[in-house]
Amino acid sequence: MPLHRGFATGPAAGRHTNPLVTAANPVLGADVSPPVHRLHAGPVPPDVAYQLVHDELLLDGNARLNLATFVTTWMEPQAANLMAECAEKNMIDKDEYPQTAALEQRCVSILAHLWHAPHPEHAVGCSTTGSSEACMLGGLALKRRWMRRQPDAGREGRRPNLVMGANVQVCWEKFCNYWEVEPRLVPMEGDRFHLDAESAVARCDQDTIGVVGIMGSTFDGSYEPVSELAAALDDLEARTGIDVPVHVDGASGAMVAPFLDPDLPWDFRLPRVASINTSGHKYGGVYPGVGWVVWRSEEALPEELVFRVNYLGGDMPTFSLNFSRPGAEVVAQYYLFLRLGWEGYAAVQRANREVAMTLSAEIEALGPFRLLTSGDQLPVFAFTTAGEVSRWNVFDVSRRLRERGWLVPAYTFPADRQDLSVLRVVVRNGFSHDLASLLVADVRRLLPELDRQGGPLQLPEEATTFHH
Ligand SMILES: *Cc1c(COP(=O)(O)O)cnc(C)c1O
Repeated sequence: MPLHRGFATGPAAGRHTNPLVTAANPVLGADVSPPVHRLHAGPVPPDVAYQLVHDELLLDGNARLNLATFVTTWMEPQAANLMAECAEKNMIDKDEYPQTAALEQRCVSILAHLWHAPHPEHAVGCSTTGSSEACMLGGLALKRRWMRRQPDAGREGRRPNLVMGANVQVCWEKFCNYWEVEPRLVPMEGDRFHLDAESAVARCDQDTIGVVGIMGSTFDGSYEPVSELAAALDDLEARTGIDVPVHVDGASGAMVAPFLDPDLPWDFRLPRVASINTSGHKYGGVYPGVGWVVWRSEEALPEELVFRVNYLGGDMPTFSLNFSRPGAEVVAQYYLFLRLGWEGYAAVQRANREVAMTLSAEIEALGPFRLLTSGDQLPVFAFTTAGEVSRWNVFDVSRRLRERGWLVPAYTFPADRQDLSVLRVVVRNGFSHDLASLLVADVRRLLPELDRQGGPLQLPEEATTFHH
C-alpha cells in the first residue's frame, strides 16, 4: 500500500486558477497554482489561499450523503462555535487548561455511569483520538495483565493471543500486528455474521489475553452476544481455571444500546467485562476525532501503563499513544452530554433506528434485494441481491448511486463468507425520513436500467477495497 507519495501531475502551473482570484486581483497581480510537490517561493494572500484550497475540496463527496461512514457529519452551530473557540487548546496541557481537563474527567465518569461501572465516581478511563487508539489501550492493558500472570521464567517462548470474530474492525488487526499478539479470528459461518460464544471459547487457552465482543459489527450493524460470551467464559474458568477477560468494542453501540436497549446486559453489569471503548465521534455525536475507553476498576488497568502529568500543582494520570491532541472534541462531547441528557440521546438514537428500519423495509419491498439485517440493533443495515438477480450486482448499485451523490459502499464479507457481497447503509443524526425516501426513489429509478445490463459491470475482485 503506498503511503502518500504525491501525484505525478498536479494542476497545470498558471492555467489552473481563476483570474479574479489571482492575476486580476489587485492585491496579488500574479498567477498562482496550488503547490503539489514543494513549497512556493513566496506567500499568497489568505483569501487567495482559502479560495484555491476550498475549490479543490469541491471534489470531496458530500459528507451528509455519505451513508458509508459511522462518523458524525452534522452538529449544531453552537457546538461548532464551541469547537472553534477551543481549536488552540492542547488536551495534554492539563495544567494550562485545567477546565478542559475537568470536562474530560466528567465525561469519563458519565460514561462509566452509563455503562454501569461498579464505582463510576472512581472510574478509570480517558479520551483518545477515536476508538482505534482506545482499542489499542484496552488491548495493551489486557496484554499487560496476561504478562503479570506469567511467572518470569514461564513467559519464555509463550505467545499471547486475542480471540475475536473475523468481522472485527481493522484496528484489532493493527493492535495484534503492532503489539505482537496472535489474532485468533473466528470465521463467519452460514448466516452467522459475527462471533458466537462456543467458537470463541474453543479458541481460548492460558495465553489468551482476552476476547473482544463487538457492539455492534461494522459489517452488518448486529450486536455480538456479549452476555453469552461472558457466561461461556465463566464456565471455562469454572472448568479449567483459565480466566479470560472481555473487552467490549462499543465504537458505535456503546452510545446506542444504553438508550435503546437498556435491559440488554453487555456492559460492566457483566463482571467479566474489563473495559469498554466507544467513538465519541460516532453515535456520541461529535465531529471527528474523539474516542473513549473506560476500565471497570483500577485493578483492570495495570498501574505501570499510566503516566503522570502536571495538573494544578499535583499530578494527573494519563494513558495515551499521542501526546498533543486537540481539546475541542472533548469539549464538544461534554457539550452534547449537557445539551441532550439521557432523554435527548434516546430521542436521537430512536429517530436513527426508526429511519434505518423504515428504509430497510422499503428497500426490501422493492423486490430484488434481500436484507441481512434491518437496522433494529445499530441503526445500520446490510443487504444483498436476491437470488434471481444476475444482470447486475451490489457494486453496480453502489457505483450508479454515486452518480446522484449518494455514497453507499458495497463490499465483500470476510472469511468464511467471501462469497457474499453486500451494500450497507449507516443512518446517523441528520439523515431524515425525507432523505431516506429520496434514496429509495433513486434506487427504484435505477432498477430498470440495471435490468437492461447484460451482466454485472464490476466484479467483486475489481472493486476498490472498502475499509470499515
Ligand atoms: C469505527 C470502529 C472502530 C474504529 O474507530 P475509530 O473511532 O474510527 O478509530 C473500531 N471498532 C469498531 C467496531 C468500529 O465500528
